[in-house]
Amino acid sequence: MGHGYYSEDLIEKIRYSNDLVDVAAEYTKLKEQGNSYIGLCPFHNEKTPSFNVNPDRQLYYCFGCGEGGNIFNFVMGLEGLNFIETVEYLANKADIDLPTRDSSQDKRRRNKKQQIFAVHKLATKFYHYLLLESEVGNQGHQYFLDRGFNEETIKKFRLGFAPDRWEQLYKFLSRKDYSKEILAKSGLVIPRKNSSGYYDRFRNRIIFTIFDHRGQPIGFGGRVLSSDDKPKYLNSPETPIFDKSHHLYGLNLAKRTIRKKEEAIIFEGYTDVITAYQAGIKNVVASLGTSLTKEQAKLLHRYAEKVYIAYDADTAGAKATLRGLDILKKEGLVVEVIQLPIGQDPDEVINENGPSKFKELIEQAVPLIEFKINSILPEKRFKDIDDKVAAFKNVLPVLNQIEIEIERDEYLGFVAEKLGIKEKNIGVLKRELNKYRKYKVQGNKDIKSKNRYNNTNDLKKELDKSQTSGYDSAIKGLIQIIINHHEFIPKLKQRLKPDEFIDDKYRQIIALIYRFYEANTDFKVDDLLEEINDQEIKKLLLRLSIQDVVSGDLDKMFFDHISKVKEHQFRMKIDNLDQRIKQAERENEFSKLDQLLQEYQKYQGLLRKEGN
Ligand SMILES: [Zn+2]
Repeated sequence: MGHGYYSEDLIEKIRYSNDLVDVAAEYTKLKEQGNSYIGLCPFHNEKTPSFNVNPDRQLYYCFGCGEGGNIFNFVMGLEGLNFIETVEYLANKADIDLPTRDSSQDKRRRNKKQQIFAVHKLATKFYHYLLLESEVGNQGHQYFLDRGFNEETIKKFRLGFAPDRWEQLYKFLSRKDYSKEILAKSGLVIPRKNSSGYYDRFRNRIIFTIFDHRGQPIGFGGRVLSSDDKPKYLNSPETPIFDKSHHLYGLNLAKRTIRKKEEAIIFEGYTDVITAYQAGIKNVVASLGTSLTKEQAKLLHRYAEKVYIAYDADTAGAKATLRGLDILKKEGLVVEVIQLPIGQDPDEVINENGPSKFKELIEQAVPLIEFKINSILPEKRFKDIDDKVAAFKNVLPVLNQIEIEIERDEYLGFVAEKLGIKEKNIGVLKRELNKYRKYKVQGNKDIKSKNRYNNTNDLKKELDKSQTSGYDSAIKGLIQIIINHHEFIPKLKQRLKPDEFIDDKYRQIIALIYRFYEANTDFKVDDLLEEINDQEIKKLLLRLSIQDVVSGDLDKMFFDHISKVKEHQFRMKIDNLDQRIKQAERENEFSKLDQLLQEYQKYQGLLRKEGN
């Protein structure tokens, strides 16, 4: 080959030090098939794979568009490099040193982007050298060691240190004969406002080098050493070679493992990635502080089918994060969320509890849909139908995202369990969901559609009907009896304390009546009503006192009502225990489970007694 720069021997060495399968896999997802690898062609757009790589011959060919050749052709074609640049690119990948060819004319020939790449490579060496070899870098070095990183890890991730000087990097790069224009474009130095000079962007910071997935340094993240300095993290600005929404920190090192496992873990921070990698969990990347983008999703999907998210609890639930996770899902990735102990970062979990604990958390990761439902429906008791209906309304958009009906039904059951809605009422929920889905489809077609989904009255009515089954009327009956026949008040007081009533409204009313009865020897409903400020309660009591048409056996009615109320309370208690038992089973909390089961049996017994 007539290149004239490097010897044939050197070029052959570079050729054999790179594997075309690895290089091609950086551009498209490859699957082993027989004795070759196939995938979607990176040279043309296609839906079914016709791109072939033969690992033994180190050749590729696309049956769709006819592109083919060796590793040099491949890189030239996709990176837009000439032959010499391709040789340099592949030499760099294989860590092979090249003889310098540094005439300033050559440098000008290389395009600006290549020069900015080269500047970053120099800066990486500069920061890394200062960290490891210089006095000024000691404190940075010590910081990383204190974080638990070993020397091998520090080298592998090319961690560095930017000294507390204004022009150290600038002077170093200037000596290398790069133009001021290139240095400014690299984002590593900043023009001074009042004079013609430049100063370093990163000063007195430890440095995380950001590589693209091919392993070229493209930017830096700098963290302060003292918590007084601001901002805590400073990243490279957008440059011709760095757009943070297109890259993932750590992917250059993680991609082989990700490809093998077809799974990736996404963290928030650089240190999470480094800690996990050092602990042997190597399929890890970080999202560079932004919410995930389509480009990042596509990049990951080249290597992975499934993605785990390991953000701290606050970030994971944030709207921007959830949007990012939807983007991953839209790109066809399976998304699961790792739930971290509250207040702990992934690197803290690994450092304090070991990688095995973190692997446990991976096993317990929940599907994205379940995670969303959990973040909308907190672990609590939903005290009445209104509460449950409101909560169900909030999860409708999430349930609506599920496209497969069986899966939708399954999650409907999951939601019902969380809300404490009985299994027999799932049909009611399903009808409501279908109503919502129908509205969504039509609403999207026609914005003016009259078929609006805005109230859940039907749902409430239906649930009310089946769930409270006489409870409400029993309480009303009791109140009716005691305000009109106050000799029943002490009898009721013996049997039901105000705080045994589940609903706020009734609890207040009963407490009010008891108090009024204690304070007044002469119980008059008019006087009682005088003391009530709450208009809703006032109206209800008024209605009940006027409606006093009680006839028949008052005693029997009184005790029947009490029975009904108690029965309902026991059922609610049992439902609640049932949920907590299921949760304790899931979390293997056996001592808690034992206690809950005892309580469960107690209430079952009480319920049977009341039923007789
Ligand atoms: Zn092709």
